Amino acid sequence: MGQTRWVSAAADRAAQLDAADPLAHLRERYHLPDGVVYLDGNSLGAMPVTAPGRLHRTVTHEWGERLIRSWNEAGWFTAATRAAAALAPLLGADPDEVVVADSTSVNVAKLLHVALALRPGRQVVVMERGSFPTDLYVAQGVLAMTGGELRLVADPAELPDALDDDVAVLAVTEVDFRTGLRWDVGAVTGAAHRVGALAMVDLCHSTGALDVDVHRWEVDLAVGCGYKFLHGGPGAPAHCYVARRHHDALPAPLPAWFGHAEPFAMSEQFTPAPGVARLAGGTPPVLSLQGLLCGLESLRGVTAAQLNAKATALGTYFAELLAEHCPQLTVLTPPEPARRGAQISVRHPRAYALVQALIARDVIGDFRHPDIARFGLAPATTRFADVALAVAQLSAVLDAGEDAAGLIPAPTSVT
Ligand SMILES: *Cc1c(COP(=O)(O)O)cnc(C)c1O
Repeated sequence: MGQTRWVSAAADRAAQLDAADPLAHLRERYHLPDGVVYLDGNSLGAMPVTAPGRLHRTVTHEWGERLIRSWNEAGWFTAATRAAAALAPLLGADPDEVVVADSTSVNVAKLLHVALALRPGRQVVVMERGSFPTDLYVAQGVLAMTGGELRLVADPAELPDALDDDVAVLAVTEVDFRTGLRWDVGAVTGAAHRVGALAMVDLCHSTGALDVDVHRWEVDLAVGCGYKFLHGGPGAPAHCYVARRHHDALPAPLPAWFGHAEPFAMSEQFTPAPGVARLAGGTPPVLSLQGLLCGLESLRGVTAAQLNAKATALGTYFAELLAEHCPQLTVLTPPEPARRGAQISVRHPRAYALVQALIARDVIGDFRHPDIARFGLAPATTRFADVALAVAQLSAVLDAGEDAAGLIPAPTSVT
């Protein structure tokens, strides 16, 4: 079949899938530029249509006119706890087990300190070699301070050898940012608990896209990102989860005043707020929190299971079209839906040029060093039609040899 024939057949099939998609209506809640196929929502989620108005009001009225009064009047004080309450169901957590604060990097540092404190006498942190770099850097930094050891594993098969009773915490990222491989967090948690260690999971590529369920997994600690699948906007604050069973003994590794039981008592001594609230850190980023609240509202009425089902269906469709029409690409993402995050990654020797050629054709995915082209499938904003268009353009780029100018630049961007 010629290129045009299969492309129009795929467009018809995609239109049917979109018409039957129970989440299709969500797309209206976001602004997306005309004519762009956006497959990078796993780096920066699309903007909720409510965000410009909300931020404008916060800046001009709340900040400009009402000034300091807005902390109470406009609910600036409660913005982070409101965000945590809206987010908790997407994690399978209770609202008071979640704190919205800081960046993921800072939260990884806080929770590694928490884990080491909750397991006194144990000084080893086990992580994956392929972790997102900031997680590894932060772990190295924390362990340089505590005098502990970082033990790296390549994959779940190496866990049994790495886990022993020196391990304080096993920390994995649920979805590998390069390949899209999804770990079985429940199984990983069980393995950690069997040696008396805690389990921590990085949900940056999960929250808002997958059926995260921290209670069912029995994971102890988690961090996640606000600007990817939660649509909170660039630099939106991240989140931490701490299972309730650890709240009584929970240390405050960064005892800042917004985590104080009575911040405005201005006392000399730090008295921790109850539970996870003690992890709140310093003054919250109010403007960024408005963006995050818009992002969370844009997901209102949607369950994590529904988002996961959509992400799975998009991924299956993408992989099918690739197998049929771009056989020269190696799909790195596992074919089994349960082992796959909300992305499809392919390996190609000239992946950088491939991604650049696609961007020139208004299909925005991204490149990961040295040979990976990655396509994020944000379930709230991606249509099956986007997937069909993306594969049509991919196949056209490959047919036209537009991926030929294949110099791989030095890595510059990493989210
Ligand atoms: C996006 C991402 C981060 C980002 O951390 P920041 O502190 O927000 O820069 C961290 N870890 C993982 C696994 C990520 O995917």
